Amino acid sequence: MTPAVNRLSHLTNADLHCHSTISDGTLEPEAIAERAAANGVELWALTDHDEIGGQARARAAAHAQGMAYLTGTEISVTFAGETIHIVGLGFDADDDALREGLARTRGGREARAREMAAGLAQVGIRGAYEGALKYVGNPELISRTHFARFLVEAGHCSDTNEVFRRFLTDGKPGFVPHRWARLGEAVGWIARAGGVAVIAHPARYSRFTPTEEYALFSEFKAHGGGGVEVITGSHTAAEAQKYGAMALEFELLASRGSDFHAPGESRTDLGTLPDLPGALTPVWTALAGRVSWPA
Ligand code: AMP
Ligand code: MN
Ligand code: MN
Ligand code: MN
Repeated sequence: MTPAVNRLSHLTNADLHCHSTISDGTLEPEAIAERAAANGVELWALTDHDEIGGQARARAAAHAQGMAYLTGTEISVTFAGETIHIVGLGFDADDDALREGLARTRGGREARAREMAAGLAQVGIRGAYEGALKYVGNPELISRTHFARFLVEAGHCSDTNEVFRRFLTDGKPGFVPHRWARLGEAVGWIARAGGVAVIAHPARYSRFTPTEEYALFSEFKAHGGGGVEVITGSHTAAEAQKYGAMALEFELLASRGSDFHAPGESRTDLGTLPDLPGALTPVWTALAGRVSWPA
């Protein structure tokens, strides 16, 4: 065992999925780092949607808190007509093809947001675009989450879950179908930048038939994908068991991340997840050379 791998083999509290104000979280990267460290996180990755603009700040903040760091992002992908998410970990954040691919993926968000607001206006919700913008930290990254926060503030719903259910999901007035990156593109950008691509929260793609889910895993693997989130904030114990078995079946590395967005809004806090099951290979053992350690 090389010293770097040996150092990682003692590590259990990795949290490799969360969001800052650079995408749809409410905390700055430094505040997330502080919260993660206070909760015992030893290895952290900030994974903002379609964006790596927070990576340098996150790495510096991680080190200031004594945590090891892996670069991260969560790419929006359209697969079999549905939106799925691919987390990238341990890539070179200066990679040009990755940066251009992410910029292109972000590119349609502004027009989509204006269409979402037009749909909401038709059911009597006025000023949603301007309202959502008040919550946006990064002008290139206006998301449904920002609309949800505005609709709660304006008194249309009591929490963001209700907003998604009533207004922001397929068939509802504020939903605008959108074409994101292709699976092979997203996986390729991450892999060619030296990182590992990971299927995010697989149990959330509930509209997939078993055949479509199998296609996702096999095509992901064929494109060079390397891991799957087994332990995430949105998995039940039974779902973690199912995707642990899928990780073994498809020979994928296992990842662990809270998907934390905001205090009081996210179900799971940073660093508070169950451990990865022992039979699985943690994704970070394959990224030993990509981890940046505090001084
Ligand atoms: P977008 O990338 O603009 O489509 O927004 C997707 C984001 O919306 C996800 O990353 C979650 O943060 C959030 N989201 C999706 N579904 C829900 C839900 N049912 N309740 C709360 N937040 C959700
Ligand atoms: Mn989000
Ligand atoms: Mn996601
Ligand atoms: Mn996420």
